[in-house]
Amino acid sequence: MKRRHLLLAGGVGAAAAAGAALRPPALAAVDRGFNRFAIDPEAPVPDATDRQLHESLFLADLHADCLKWDRDLLTWSDYGHADVPRLKAGNTALQVFAMVTHSPVNFPWRDCLSADAPNHAAWLALVQGRPFRSTRGRAFYQMDLFWDAVHRSRLSDGTELRPILNASELLALIAARSEGQDVMGGMLALEGGHWVGQYDPGPGVVTAEIQRLYDRGLRLFAPVHRFDNPLGGSSEGCARYGLTPAGEVALQVAEEHGMVIDLAHASEDLIQDAARLLKKPFIVSHTGVRAVCEGPPCLPDRNMSDDSIRAVLDSGGLIGIGYWGMAVGQGVANIPRVMAHIMEIAEQRGLNGADHVALGSDFDGSVATQISADELVVLTATLRAAGFDREVIARIAGRNVCRLLAGNMPGGSPAMARQAEQVLENGFA
Ligand SMILES: [Zn+2]
Repeated sequence: MKRRHLLLAGGVGAAAAAGAALRPPALAAVDRGFNRFAIDPEAPVPDATDRQLHESLFLADLHADCLKWDRDLLTWSDYGHADVPRLKAGNTALQVFAMVTHSPVNFPWRDCLSADAPNHAAWLALVQGRPFRSTRGRAFYQMDLFWDAVHRSRLSDGTELRPILNASELLALIAARSEGQDVMGGMLALEGGHWVGQYDPGPGVVTAEIQRLYDRGLRLFAPVHRFDNPLGGSSEGCARYGLTPAGEVALQVAEEHGMVIDLAHASEDLIQDAARLLKKPFIVSHTGVRAVCEGPPCLPDRNMSDDSIRAVLDSGGLIGIGYWGMAVGQGVANIPRVMAHIMEIAEQRGLNGADHVALGSDFDGSVATQISADELVVLTATLRAAGFDREVIARIAGRNVCRLLAGNMPGGSPAMARQAEQVLENGFA
């Protein structure tokens, strides 16, 4: 921990929280309390076939919030959900690490979340001794943590955490994994561009902020999180408007840079606005669907409507399904049910259903996960038990993500997308 802080001189120097930070055991208790497990006792017990198939997969996860917590990404922790060693044990090949910077407290007497409510993410940054005053500061600190882990992993004899910034690097990662190298890809995502366009919604300011994020390695951009912000409305916000003018600029500039646009948490209007605006496929990185789970335990406004699902499918995009009960419902058998619902809508639109579903665990996202990062083989067993064949499982597990990234990231092209798929077909499942 000390070494990490030394390497992060710039970010930690701004941690004006001296005296406010909790001691490590108290932080661990907070972490444990927010990132719980609700392992499903009814989950299928993986057999030899499940294990063989699972080991042959290239697994890509579109969303985890590990950087929010005071844990070393390179050390196996006995609390919280995920780190590189646990993800490696679960055979994850590519992990998206998201930055959460503003989480309003959800008061039970209100039916929407407002930016004015007390901010859990700022409080957490404060007690962890991190920069806590601004959403931008909190985001850039988390990006520093990622880059620090990348550099340390290169010096260690453990798994190399390799940043994936363009399509060529993705293809190189796929090749390295197929050769059996101990390497895991990592990508940075922003969950809510709250400050982008906050002070001056002029296009120049928005463009400069997106450029700054791109330069630091951000490759997935979600304009909103759980409340309406200056870029657009949230599915749980109080007004739930569509894209603002600043939001339109932000998404267009991010898309031009080769960032993947992630509309997780977006309002219905925002998703429809984005569908009209964007030229490339977009994603919803971590979600459930309303048709399978709308009421308790799911949050009424969090999951996707069929109209929103159609908008993502029509863009050629992907929907990442989570493993936590508030997204899919209680019990892991709901995960393939949610996926099958999306696949059915896709088939109705003349698409190959299995091409548009992906994984979005939301590990460390203050949820109770029903599958653990080091036992992802349970997910493979669950999908097989639901009747999905090897080909469908391989697509959902990671081939779809690789196709989308290789086709749309910087340097990407349809030819690179085909190449990624071909290598995965030959070298993996
Ligand atoms: Zn989220």
